[in-house]
Formats: sequence, C-alpha cells, structure tokens
Amino acid sequence: MALQLYNTLTRKKEVFQPLHPDEVTFYSCGPTVYNYPHIGNYRAYFFADILKRVLQYEGYNVKHIMNLTDIDDKTILNSQKEGKSLKDFTEFYTGIFLEDVKSLNFLLPSKFTKATDYIDQMVEIIEKLLHHGLAYKSDDGSVYFNIRKFQNYGKLSHLVLENQKENAGGRIATDEYEKDNVQDFALWKAWDEKDGDVFWETSIGKGRPGWHIECSAMSMANLCEQIDIHTGGVDNIFPHHENEIAQSEGVTGKQFVKYWMHNEWVLVDQKKMSKSSNNFYTLRDLMAKGFNPLAYRLWLLMANYRTRVNFTWETLEGAETALKRLYRAYLELGGDVGEIAQDYQQKFKNFIEDDLDTPQALALLWDLLKDESISKEDKKATLLDFDKVFGLGLENLKEEIIPEEVMKLVEEREQARQNKDFQKSDELRKKIHSLGYTVKDSGTSYKIEKN
Ligand SMILES: [Zn+2]
Repeated sequence: MALQLYNTLTRKKEVFQPLHPDEVTFYSCGPTVYNYPHIGNYRAYFFADILKRVLQYEGYNVKHIMNLTDIDDKTILNSQKEGKSLKDFTEFYTGIFLEDVKSLNFLLPSKFTKATDYIDQMVEIIEKLLHHGLAYKSDDGSVYFNIRKFQNYGKLSHLVLENQKENAGGRIATDEYEKDNVQDFALWKAWDEKDGDVFWETSIGKGRPGWHIECSAMSMANLCEQIDIHTGGVDNIFPHHENEIAQSEGVTGKQFVKYWMHNEWVLVDQKKMSKSSNNFYTLRDLMAKGFNPLAYRLWLLMANYRTRVNFTWETLEGAETALKRLYRAYLELGGDVGEIAQDYQQKFKNFIEDDLDTPQALALLWDLLKDESISKEDKKATLLDFDKVFGLGLENLKEEIIPEEVMKLVEEREQARQNKDFQKSDELRKKIHSLGYTVKDSGTSYKIEKN
C-alpha cells in the first residue's frame, strides 16, 4: 500500500506523490499568539505533528514551516487591552505556546516564522497583485483583493459565487468572517487611530498587513511557489485558505498547494470548543488536575483527525489510565531491544498509510502487547518503532526511581503488615500516599506506583 491522504481540494483520498522526490514541502498555519491556546486549538498542531511523523516514517525528508501570527486584529486589540507593546505581548504568548509544544511532544518544525519578520515580502506580493489587476486601493488607502477577478475563487471551499449575490461586490476589512459574508478581503489595512503605534511605512502606504497575506508570504519565502502540503483546522478552509490560494496563485499563476489537509473540531457538550463560547480548557487546566499532557495526545490519537471528538474529563481519565498501563507494560519488557516484528510493522504501516488511521494503529499496539508469541525484546523494538509515529515518549521512559524516604516507609509498613499491626500499616499507607505514591498489595508481595 502507498500513503494515501485526504485532499480537501478534491474531497478524495489520493496517493501521495510529492512534487520533488527528495523533499516534502509542508506548511502549517500556526497559532495567533494573543492568549493561552485551548486544547481544541492544539488538535491542529497535533495533526500536523502526526502527519509529519508519518511522512518521516515513510522515509521522506520533510521541510516543515509553521508560522506564528504576531500581527492581526486580535493581537493588536488584546495587546492594547493589556497596555503592552505588540512585541512584548506576542513574545509572552509565543513562550507559552513553545512550552506546550514541548509538553505535547510535538516535533519542532524546520522553522517557526513570525509574521512581522516578513512585511517586505507581503508588500512585494501586494504590489504584484495590484500590477496584475487582481487588487485595488480603496479610498482610505487600504488594498483589497478583487475576488471577481480571480477565476478560481472558491475552489477549496467549493463556493459558488453566483449564490452569494447579496454580499459579493462589497468589501470586508476584518480578518475573520463567515462563508455567507464572502466579499473582497483586505490585503493591506491603512493605518487608523485604533492601530495605535502598530504600522509600517511602505511603498503601498502606511499600515499593516491583513491576516491572509501573511501565510502566502511566509510559505513562498521559506518553501517555494508550489508546495506539497498545507494544513490547518477546518475553520481555516474559508476564508483563510481560500484567500491564500487567491493571493499566491494570483501572483505566480501556478497551483499553490498540491494537498490541502484539515483537521476537525474538538467539541464540549457537542458544541465546538472556542474562546467565544467560553467552553474551553487550556493544557494548563489539564495539568493542574494532575493529567499528563501526553494523555491528551493519546486521547487525540484515539480518533481519526477528520472526525469531531467530544471532550469529557471521563474520557481523558480513560486515556490517562491507558497511558499508565502502556508505560507499565513497556517497562516490564526489560532493558533489551530485539528485532521489529515484521508482520506487526506491516499492519501498522497499512493503517497509518490509510489517511493516518491512528485508532486502528493504536488497537494494533494493544494486540501486540497481548501477543504471547512475540518475545519481550521484539515487543520492545516494535513498540519503539510505532512510537516514532505515536510520540508517546516511550524512548525516554525510565523506571521510576522511588525516593529513599518513601522506600523506608514502605519497608516499615511491610514490617507492620507482617506483624499484623494493621492500624500502623494503614497509617503508613496514608503517609506514603501523601508523598505521592500508592502501595498495592498483591498476595505476599507489593507494588509501588505514583499516585
Ligand atoms: Zn495561515
């Protein structure tokens, strides 16, 4: 089987064939660094991470760019609310994002690109679009893309412009808007008082870029005019990615992206998790409740990226229990690494090559652990191989070293238990628990686990 990926552009699974055999060019829309991302936001970066891991597992060299949107309507508004400069404000939230990236074990992209580092490239694209007659200046000096002049406008979101007569022909200045509000969109926003000290003096005037032009510029500057894969959440299909296509293809006359890929939402109570609905949790909320961030990663692996998933604390607890079970089982395999079990590897490949079927691949992992015909050493080698894609941190897993203080109490308790002093044994168990460990008796022996 060859790697097959679902392409939003054609609405089909397609066999993956990169433009150049030696290197896959891959762009992911990254976060807008204006507050703490919620765990629903992280599904998009998780999806990009899994996709990249699968490509690497398949032997591809991947050049991956992820942007950091540090200038748009939301960043300006929130930095002003906090009374901070745009730079200080966005750097703080960039730091938060990078911490979370580490906690969730995402592979770092080849490069993170900050939008404010690419203003010159954005201006250059806008000048070309003006020159090609695809863009125009409005009375206030802003520049808009003329969607009627771009023949393929709507091809990604499958919009039919004729059905949008009511609004089409107008202009929209905000970065985000709905599909039923399709209009000419802002490439460059002329400065006004609301922008305060956030502006650039450029050949197209004093102002700042629109959100959509940022990704066209960063993708072209760091990869090339045509790339293999572009990812984002389904929310990005319209207007963001539709507008990226218009800008990029409007300038180059070439197809911008070969495979457009999008992940679905995380829901809460069957409603989309979002800042505006105030039904969101951050990774820090999960960690404050004692969850391992990788339990959230495992929870996401349990569903295909194209299905909506409903978040509940109970299901996250299930994932945490499963993660602990996996870690225990892995550690019990001992220190020797044998050979990868070929038939398991083949099945694993078949699952992930089928548009990243991680739920099936996970089920295979549990089958492998139960399979008594495979030696411990070979199981270990195979699990480590699978974890190149899963990213659950098996490689760095070490037998927990239990503090001496706890061990002393455990021994004392064992003595008390042998003396049938159950009251003392119980008191000691509580003391051990308060230090973060649980003693579990099994027959004449016992086990110590982290709470
Ligand atoms: Zn983007």
